[in-house]
Amino acid sequence: MLKIENLTAGYDDREVLKEVNLKFNSGFVYAILGPNGSGKSTLLRTIDRILKPKKGKVYIDGEDIRKFSAKEIAKKIAYLPQSSNSTPYSLVFDAILLGRKPHISFEPSERDLEVVERIIEDFGLKDFAFRKINELSGGEVQKVLIARALAQEPQVLLLDEPVNHLDPKNQIEILKILKKLTGNLNLTTVIVLHDINLAIQFADYFIFMKNGEIYQTGDCKIIEPSLIKDVYDIDVKIIELDRRKFVISDF
Ligand code: ADP
Ligand code: MG
Repeated sequence: MLKIENLTAGYDDREVLKEVNLKFNSGFVYAILGPNGSGKSTLLRTIDRILKPKKGKVYIDGEDIRKFSAKEIAKKIAYLPQSSNSTPYSLVFDAILLGRKPHISFEPSERDLEVVERIIEDFGLKDFAFRKINELSGGEVQKVLIARALAQEPQVLLLDEPVNHLDPKNQIEILKILKKLTGNLNLTTVIVLHDINLAIQFADYFIFMKNGEIYQTGDCKIIEPSLIKDVYDIDVKIIELDRRKFVISDF
């Protein structure tokens, strides 16, 4: 379980996240939603300790992550930043193997190679394993980057807008794989998404942020026009089809 307690963080003197409290259970996908600048990326960076909090703590299974080294944190938390524009210039297999780094002390073991092979299979990347990453499509590159994060075998997976700029098929394919692996591997998956309808389709729980604070959390019952209006300042209608909600803008 991932727990965040009174987390305040920001840049220099500026506080961006204010007194954030959250709890995440294993085996579920959590979507973080909120307008640009609301602190979503800052929250993920602070959980991964790339950004040191000004106040508050992050616990994994009851342990304060401050006591872990960077390598130990990398075994527990994998983080894929928003639009990592530095695409590794290597083969797909090698890039995913790099995710094993926190586990490798001298050279990759049999098990490290097995983990990479299994993940390549999970992401349907078999035909691409020995291709160069810079020769892949955007959707394929994104699969490789997420596969590399999973090769870390983390307990917590933090993904910042992982499906932006991808076509609908790739978006759905990637989110489906993530949902399945979250259940199978009992991960805590936290994904920043902009598309509310995609979030409704794939996430179990929703965290709405506004101005660096948690505005509301809960399952899809909380998604109502008034919430969307308060958080995004847009007027929407919500329709239900096959017991699923769809948010449509009300022009
Ligand atoms: P979101 O991901 O929700 O769009 P961010 O967490 O990126 O929001 O940004 C929240 C606020 O923090 C914004 O006002 C942004 O300008 C500021 N911010 C983000 N990154 C930095 C940084 N590296 N240095 C200074 N301010 C930053
Ligand atoms: Mg962001």
